Amino acid sequence: MMGLAGRGVLVSGGTSGIGLAAAQRFLEEGCRVYITGHEPDALAAALEKLGKRGEISGQVCDVSDHQQAIAAVEAADAAVGALTVVANNAGISWREPFLQQLEVAHWDRIMAVNLRGMFSVAQAAAQLLVRAGRAGSIINMASTNALGGEEDYAHYNSSKGGVLQLTRSMAVELGPYGIRVNAICPGYIDTPLNQTIAGGLPGDFAQRYANERIPLRRVGNPEDVAAAYAFLASDDAAFVHGAVLAVDGGQVAVM
Ligand code: NAP
Repeated sequence: MMGLAGRGVLVSGGTSGIGLAAAQRFLEEGCRVYITGHEPDALAAALEKLGKRGEISGQVCDVSDHQQAIAAVEAADAAVGALTVVANNAGISWREPFLQQLEVAHWDRIMAVNLRGMFSVAQAAAQLLVRAGRAGSIINMASTNALGGEEDYAHYNSSKGGVLQLTRSMAVELGPYGIRVNAICPGYIDTPLNQTIAGGLPGDFAQRYANERIPLRRVGNPEDVAAAYAFLASDDAAFVHGAVLAVDGGQVAVM
């Protein structure tokens, strides 16, 4: 991708699934990469795996803690030289029927990680870039669940819908500083998060889901989404700003 080599990149939630694939892709593009994760063991394993591919470092950070998010952004900037790309990726999800089960504490946790956490990382990064007089690219992780109301995910759908409005609001305010802000909406991607959810359901849930809902008749893999991160971070996307990119095998094109 044009202009990516040498860039300093932060991937939040870079220890697993889509974030891990994104970190790997940015390393392959010649970037200096910093990852954060929630669990120390997962962070150590990811750093070990990625270290064979390039310049990588990272730290544990719970993005739902505003001060931890600020500290992680500052540490990333120091570690990679000059941070200019943020893959704002960390997130959680689980199924919980709205009518029978959805609990206030679970609603609050999803919002704290998926929406407020994204705000905390993005605001810290934007403030750092503006202070440094640096242009940059912030990519917020939304979901096709931001575009439609999938059953059993009212809390998650709502958090990701908020990410789209956060993205648009950031695009309006940060564009004049040369900071591009975009959102990615993946469909069903085969990651540990989805493997855990599907593990509790009968049969081959992922293949059934693909057959019933995805025109390309397959679920996505983390590398499909990593490519979108790389594109939006690169100079190939120099005029792409405030956009929402679906990476979903055509799922949201279905009537
Ligand atoms: P994953 O494999 O579970 O990875 C999630 C990452 O986020 C991990 O690195 C995890 O760290 C980190 N994380 C979780 N809670 C955190 C917290 N409180 N603070 C900081 N980091 C935290 O999930 P994934 O499927 O790759 O999902 C990545 C992102 O894509 C999420 O925002 C998700 O909503 C979004 N997404 C996924 C899909 C999909 O189909 N998989 C579709 C659309 C959007 P630990 O492992 O250490 O907990």
